Amino acid sequence: MAGNGEGPAIGIDLGTTYSCVGVWRQWHERVEIIVNDQGNRTTPSYVAFTEEERLIGDGAMNQVAKNPTNTIFDAKRLIGRRFSDESVRSDMKLWPFKVVPGPRDRPMIEVTYRDKQKQFAAEEISSMVLLKMRETAEAFLGLSVKNAVVTVPSYFNDAQRQATMDAGFIAGLNVMSILNEPTAAAIAYELETKAGSDGNKNALVFDLGGGTLDVSLLTIKQGVIEVKATTGDTHLGGEDFDNRIVDYFVEEFKRKLKKDITRDPRAIRRLRTSCERAKRILSLTIQTTIEIDCLYDGIDFSTTLTRAKFEDLNMDLFTMCMKQVKKCLMDANVHISNIHDVVLVGGSTRIPKVQQLLQDFFKGKEMCKSINPDEAVAYGAAVRAAILGGNATEKIHDLLLLEVTPLSLGTAILGDIMSVVIPRNTSIPTKKEDRFTTVGDNQTEVLIDVYQGERTRVTENNFLGEFSLSEIPPAPAGVPEINVCFEMDANGILHVSAEDKATGQMSGMTISKYENGRLSKAEVDRMLKEAKKYKAEDEKFKKKIEAKNALEFYVYKLKNTIKDHKITSKMSPADKMKTKYAIDEAIQWLDCNQFAEIDDFEEKKHYLEDVWNPIVAKMYQWNR
Ligand code: AMP
Repeated sequence: MAGNGEGPAIGIDLGTTYSCVGVWRQWHERVEIIVNDQGNRTTPSYVAFTEEERLIGDGAMNQVAKNPTNTIFDAKRLIGRRFSDESVRSDMKLWPFKVVPGPRDRPMIEVTYRDKQKQFAAEEISSMVLLKMRETAEAFLGLSVKNAVVTVPSYFNDAQRQATMDAGFIAGLNVMSILNEPTAAAIAYELETKAGSDGNKNALVFDLGGGTLDVSLLTIKQGVIEVKATTGDTHLGGEDFDNRIVDYFVEEFKRKLKKDITRDPRAIRRLRTSCERAKRILSLTIQTTIEIDCLYDGIDFSTTLTRAKFEDLNMDLFTMCMKQVKKCLMDANVHISNIHDVVLVGGSTRIPKVQQLLQDFFKGKEMCKSINPDEAVAYGAAVRAAILGGNATEKIHDLLLLEVTPLSLGTAILGDIMSVVIPRNTSIPTKKEDRFTTVGDNQTEVLIDVYQGERTRVTENNFLGEFSLSEIPPAPAGVPEINVCFEMDANGILHVSAEDKATGQMSGMTISKYENGRLSKAEVDRMLKEAKKYKAEDEKFKKKIEAKNALEFYVYKLKNTIKDHKITSKMSPADKMKTKYAIDEAIQWLDCNQFAEIDDFEEKKHYLEDVWNPIVAKMYQWNR
C-alpha cells in the first residue's frame, strides 16, 4: 500500500517489551531514531489505566509496581491469537493483569479504568502504543504523521499480521506495509556496513528480543536483500529469562521464609522488575544483588545472583536458541562457513552467554555489533517507509526486498491431511496453483479450507478460513477439475480462489476479510471511536494537570514574593493579611482538591490574581 501523501512516513518497531520509531532524513541521508518525551530512544510497550488517567510508555511502566493489575504489557503476545491457544493460557499465569474470553474466542484484557471495569482487545492496547509512537514522531517532526511501516516477527501468522494492521488503523495510521523484523534489521545492516558493495554476502540475523526469537538467513547482493530462510520461536526471549529468575527466587522465598509470594501480584511484579534489572547488570558484571524492601508480608528481600547461576537457570532456553540457528541454516541449505556476518538484533543479544554460544557455533567468528541492537529494526522500517512513501534518496533508492512466507500455506484434503500449495520460505509476492477434485459422485459443492503451518494434520495447523465453490456439474468422483490458486502479496496477505475448469465458475476469499478471531468492521469502528474518546480524555486530563500546575506555580511564587522584605515593605498591613490569607486558603484548597476540574483550578487562580493584581498596581502607583 502506498503512502497517502500526508507528511513523512515513519518506521515503527512495535516490540513486545519496547517499541522504537525512526524516520529517514532526506537532507542528512540517514535514519533518525526519535527520542520520546522522556528523552529515551525506546519506549516501553506498556499501557496503564488508573482512577484518573491512561498512561502509555515510560509513564505506564514506572507505575507498574503500584498498579500491576491495570498495567498492560505483552499485548504482542496476545495479538491475533485465540483465548484457547496454549501459549495464551500459559502466558496468562505469569501476567498480573486479567485476560478473559471474549467474542469468538478472542482474549480480552480486563482492567479498571476511572472506577469502571473495561475490556480491551490486544489490538486496542497495541494501537495505544502505536499512537504514542506516532505522537513521538509528530512532536519531533512538528508535522502530522499518517503513513507508517510497522514490523512484526517473521513467524507471525496472517491473523497476527492482520491484527497488527488493525491496531495501526485504530491508531489513525495508514500502515503502508507490514515488514518482517529480520528484514528490517538486514536493511539497517546493509546500509551501515555496505555489505553488498563487494558482491554476494550471506548474513544471519539473530534477533532475540523481549518475547520472540527470529533467526533469518539473508543474501545481500548489490542492494538486493533476499530472505532465504526464516525460523524462530514466538515464545522465547528476555521475559522468559526473567521468569526463570523470578521462579528461582519465589522458591528461595518459600524455602527460607515459608511464604508463597505468588499470591501477591504486586510482589511478583516488583520481584520481576528487580530480576530484569539484575539480568541486564549481569551482562556487564559477574555478580549482582537484589534488594527489595517489604516484598511480602512486610519482609525485606535481599539476595545475590551470579552470572553463572543466571546462565544455569536459562541454559536450556539458550540451547533452544541455537537449535533455531541450526534449523535456519539447514532450511536455507547454507553451510556455516558460507556465513559472512552474524548480525545481532534485540536487547537479549547483549547476554554474554548468548554471544558466546553463537560465536562457538560459528567457529569463533566475531559477531556484527555495529548497529544498536535495540534500534536496528526501527531503522530498517524507517528506510522501507521512506521508499514506500516516495521520500527515498539515492542512497536507499535501490534497496530491494524479497520476503518469504514464514509458514507453509495449503488446504485440507481427505483424511484431514495438509496439502501444501505455497511451501514455507517461498519468496513473496508469489502465486501458486494446484489441481483438486471431488471425493463423491455427483458432488456439486466443495469446501476449501485454508491452513497455515508445517504439520501433516490440518487440525494441528493454524486455520485461516474457508469458502465453498458450488454449482459444479454432477459427475463421478475424481472427474471435475478444480484449480485452486493461492496468491500472497508483498504484505504477506493471502488471497485464495478456486475455479471449476469445466464451467469457469469461480469463488474465493481474501484472508484479510476473514472474520474468525479478527476484529469485525463494526468492532474496528467502535475502537476507532473509543480511541478518539480516550485521546480526548488524555488531553483533558493533561489540561487539568496544566491548570493545577499553573495554580500551584502561582500560589508558591506569590508565597515567595511576599517573603521578600523589599516587597512587603511597600504593602499595607491589610494587604499583607489579605494576600497571606488568600495564599493559605489556596494551598489548603489544593491539598484537598488534587483532582478538581479545570474550571475550579482556573477559578482559584483568577481569585488569587484578583487579590494580588490590585495590590501590585497600588505598589507601582506609590513608586511613581
Ligand atoms: P527488545 O524487544 O529488542 O527491545 O529487547 C528487550 C529485551 O532485551 C528485554 O527482555 C530486556 O530485558 C532485554 N535486555 C535489554 N538489555 C539487556 C542487557 N544489557 N542484557 C540482557 N538483556 C537485556
